[in-house]
Amino acid sequence: VSAAPGAAPNVPSRAPSGAPSDAGPDAARDALAARLAAVVGPRHVLRRPTELRVYDADGLPGYHRQPLLAVLPGTREEVVAVVRLLAAEGVPFVPRGAGTGLSGGALADGAAHGAVLLGLNRLTRVLRVDAENRVAVVEPGVVNAKLGQAVAPFRLHYAPDPSSQSACTVGGNVAENAGGPHCLKYGVTLNHVVAATVVLPTARWSRWATPTARPRATTCSAPSSAARGASASRST
Ligand SMILES: Cc1cc2nc3c(=O)[nH]c(=O)nc-3n(C[C@H](O)[C@H](O)[C@H](O)COP(=O)(O)OP(=O)(O)OC[C@H]3O[C@@H](n4cnc5c(N)ncnc54)[C@H](O)[C@@H]3O)c2cc1C
Repeated sequence: VSAAPGAAPNVPSRAPSGAPSDAGPDAARDALAARLAAVVGPRHVLRRPTELRVYDADGLPGYHRQPLLAVLPGTREEVVAVVRLLAAEGVPFVPRGAGTGLSGGALADGAAHGAVLLGLNRLTRVLRVDAENRVAVVEPGVVNAKLGQAVAPFRLHYAPDPSSQSACTVGGNVAENAGGPHCLKYGVTLNHVVAATVVLPTARWSRWATPTARPRATTCSAPSSAARGASASRST
């Protein structure tokens, strides 16, 4: 969960640039929405309560917090630009993948904190599969099971398999260090991540890597053999 440093506790902490300084919270929110829409397009900024309803809970029933806004960038550049804007405005934000988390971690509290939901589920590309080195380069919104499907033609298998794998994202898996039955033998998500490009709450981005990491296992004996499947791909 990320929040812009120095974020103030209320909606938004100050009127976003361009809004009249004496404007109320609605005007400030609308001004922020307009600035975000200029980055990601109007379709990808949600502000109506009915639109935000889908984001007011994750897989933990009973906890509901509606975000001030939801913004859904479609590229890494848009993610950086959105985070830069939120950081400049002092607006806290919470990233979200598929919202299957069971700890309420993907909830952004608009009423109490003026928090914005940063949805990453449009970033769904498997950018590259390096079969020889058993490395896949993926965007954070790739659904776990889709990564498995993407590497199967190379007779490889992505081992971390939470039961939610048909919906949950690799970004959410990394944040939660998700695991599943294959992880008993092959290790959990963090044992399969060799590098990550991370956008910090300040909008600076940084690349983290583990140069000494080694593949944990060999290729699958058959592409469809998930039960026997040895972990062979590692995601970044
Ligand atoms: C039916 C069901 C079965 C499940 N089975 C398992 C299981 O077997 N094993 C297991 O470990 N978990 C399981 N879970 C929990 C959940 O699926 C995992 O924690 C999963 O990793 C969450 O991924 P997500 O994309 O849905 O993340 P979200 O729920 O959207 O977010 C989870 C957390 O990660 C953060 N986050 C998400 N994406 C990013 C990103 N790109 N960058 C930074 N932070 C991010 C969010 O802010 C939040 O704090 C299950 C959940 C359900 C509903």
